[in-house]
Amino acid sequence: MTTDLTVYTQTAQRFADAFGESFQVNVPISKYTSARVGGSAEMMLIAKSAADLQKAVELACAANIRYTIIGGGSNILVSDRGVRGLVIFNKAKQVQFRHSGASVICTAESGMNLSSLARMCISKGLGGLEWAIGVPGTVGGAVVGNSGAHGGDMNDNLLLATVWEPGRGVRTYSLEDMQYEYRNSVFKREQGNKFKLRRVVLSADLKFKPGSTDVIMARADEFNEKRKKSQPGGATMGSMFKNPENYYAGYLIETAGLKGFRCGGASISEKHANFFLNDGTATAEDIRALIAEAWHTVRDRFGVEMELEVELVGDWDY
Ligand SMILES: Cc1cc2nc3c(=O)[nH]c(=O)nc-3n(C[C@H](O)[C@H](O)[C@H](O)COP(=O)(O)OP(=O)(O)OC[C@H]3O[C@@H](n4cnc5c(N)ncnc54)[C@H](O)[C@@H]3O)c2cc1C
Repeated sequence: MTTDLTVYTQTAQRFADAFGESFQVNVPISKYTSARVGGSAEMMLIAKSAADLQKAVELACAANIRYTIIGGGSNILVSDRGVRGLVIFNKAKQVQFRHSGASVICTAESGMNLSSLARMCISKGLGGLEWAIGVPGTVGGAVVGNSGAHGGDMNDNLLLATVWEPGRGVRTYSLEDMQYEYRNSVFKREQGNKFKLRRVVLSADLKFKPGSTDVIMARADEFNEKRKKSQPGGATMGSMFKNPENYYAGYLIETAGLKGFRCGGASISEKHANFFLNDGTATAEDIRALIAEAWHTVRDRFGVEMELEVELVGDWDY
């Protein structure tokens, strides 16, 4: 797996000089993802601040090395063959609040855990992000995927995103610039294009409405209960497919008779058919086989071609 050896060694040395022990080579990715599968990162860096994140992608661009950002790793399926180039795990977590008229604005670095941010806001009596309680992953991942639940999504919260763009540097994206749709954004639409360097979310400004902590907390508890009742625990990536128009992907997969269907160590949850589980022995290839089975069976039974919500990351070419 590589990139020309000399270039690789020189680049690795440059990263080691710049980031010290935060940089390593040949690191297994599985423990950094919620599905607990996937091969190794050729080079791996833990970014502890937005400044680190920016410096890392600038260095990677200058060295002509591909980079992949992983936040919580909760919406990706990493190939068993791993990921070439530099994988950056985003742990930039600084958060600041300020008043703006009747609202409060929070600037959160993109590696901040979304659910923890929601809890922090509730404890301060700030409403608007309750839907995110229990959604794993980071602010950056949620900004990219327009994550949402219980009728809310990032589209309701985002004021602007501070983004590093290859060739253009740091820019501000307004809500309109994000071109949000259901679990989609201008960033997510680029995921299929493996030749294009990806934009990087450094931080996000989110808006909140002050309110009664008890009322906001009660709403969050209700959402959390619903989640516990309807979703399985364990190693999963959340919803595998987006809900097609007028359907629920889970309903289609369940009605196609696939609940409990298994490929190797991966199975379709008995509790929620749009959740695919790793029993601890699954490979990424097992999960991909399960995706193919569900997709084809649903298309053959109902004529519906489902779209993946989860992104396939790394080396999937044959
Ligand atoms: C149990 C479970 C429940 C879930 N429930 C929900 C739910 O209710 N609603 C929902 O919407 N989702 C849900 N998800 C999916 C997932 O948690 C969200 O999509 C989450 O927002 C992904 O964030 P992440 O940091 O884990 O992204 P990752 O999986 O790390 O990355 C996803 C994509 O975003 C890119 N990315 C991440 N950070 C950045 C950045 N800073 N800049 C640029 N690109 C970036 C990555 O490169 C990748 O392309 C669930 C997942 C699990 C496992």
